[in-house]
Amino acid sequence: MSSPRIALEDRYCAHNYAPLPVVLSRGRGVWLWDEDGKRYMDMMSAYSAVSFGHSHPALVAALTHQAGQLAVTSRAFYSDQLGKFLQLLCEMTGMAKALPMNSGTEAVETSLKAARKWAYQVKGVPDQQAQIIVCAGNFAGRSTTIVGFSSEAQYRDGFGPFDGGFVTIPYGDAAALEAAITSRTAAFLVEPIQGEGGIIVPPDGYLAQCREICTRRNVLLICDEVQTGLGRSGRLLACDHEGIRPDGLILGKALGGGLLPVSAFLARSDVMDVFTPGDHGSTFGGNALSAAVAYAALSLLRDGELIEAAELRGQQLRAGLRAIRHPAVRGVRGKGLLIGLELDPDLISARTFCERLMENGILSKETHHTVVRFAPPLIISADEVDAALHIIEHVFATFPTTHMEVCT
Ligand SMILES: *Cc1c(COP(=O)(O)O)cnc(C)c1O
Repeated sequence: MSSPRIALEDRYCAHNYAPLPVVLSRGRGVWLWDEDGKRYMDMMSAYSAVSFGHSHPALVAALTHQAGQLAVTSRAFYSDQLGKFLQLLCEMTGMAKALPMNSGTEAVETSLKAARKWAYQVKGVPDQQAQIIVCAGNFAGRSTTIVGFSSEAQYRDGFGPFDGGFVTIPYGDAAALEAAITSRTAAFLVEPIQGEGGIIVPPDGYLAQCREICTRRNVLLICDEVQTGLGRSGRLLACDHEGIRPDGLILGKALGGGLLPVSAFLARSDVMDVFTPGDHGSTFGGNALSAAVAYAALSLLRDGELIEAAELRGQQLRAGLRAIRHPAVRGVRGKGLLIGLELDPDLISARTFCERLMENGILSKETHHTVVRFAPPLIISADEVDAALHIIEHVFATFPTTHMEVCT
């Protein structure tokens, strides 16, 4: 597995990732092919960015058509694509207004700026005093502000100083939220399911309790659904599992249809209206090409069929994983097609497990050393889920259990 392309990338690319040793050259639907033509099932979906599968024909058509019409003008001018995209986005999510950006990180940054300015202008928090409450184990991107409130040492080490203005509470604990709120609190930023944190699902009712607390205490509830949103959890939004609507909503990843970086911060009008011309922006944010592709991506979710399929295939995949009897399996969790398999690191390292999966034709990636992520494109079929389960069982069988039982 020593391709000259690996050596080339390793020579010139920063080593800020540790990729599996596979060189991909083509993708279609749930499938990826390496440079030698070997086929793999994609169980990563580029961290949920490829929810519609690789090179979805409708999305490629929207991309190529729009690329030939108009791509980037900056928001110094109006375009015939942006309003239409944001209207559909707001109507589908039930939010009033949207601010388009590119990466998830930028949309999170946008939400933080909106929350602070709202706190000063609308809530009446004294200048420079606003606080934003976040959860331990969060992941919201890699900007210096965002890593400043990460609880992951590696994300922070060497990148300070950090400005402050954030308060960290345990995830899944509504009482801790209630206790942390002060008159200076602008917002509570939370992932409905922690993705990079290890596919952590909070207790049932948690988000609904947070909604009630935030409403009563006049604190903005901002849900970071960059990873959980747009059907991934088996609902359009993971918030929909508890029937709540946040005051601010962050979307990204799948919004670009797996073709482009497209993100957005959505909010109530009184929150979004704190932005005036010149306050905030992005050269590429909301460009016509991104808007056209995102509109096409949203259109694929509109009738709800793909979301329902994600729910059913997710149940199938979780049930199959739970049926696997192996001493290294510590648990299976998740919603929809955002699934984590927790392994006992003393028995099987998640990285080694992913390497074996790769050898057997499934691509996935570990998160937090002990969790293997299973997040295939939402278009995966029932037969493909069965085929994947078959391979996963086979891979477990390559880790002999007799010796392990002695160890446990
Ligand atoms: C991936 C992710 C982000 C950051 O998105 P980028 O596009 O990588 O900047 C933010 N929040 C959550 C929950 C994510 O999973």
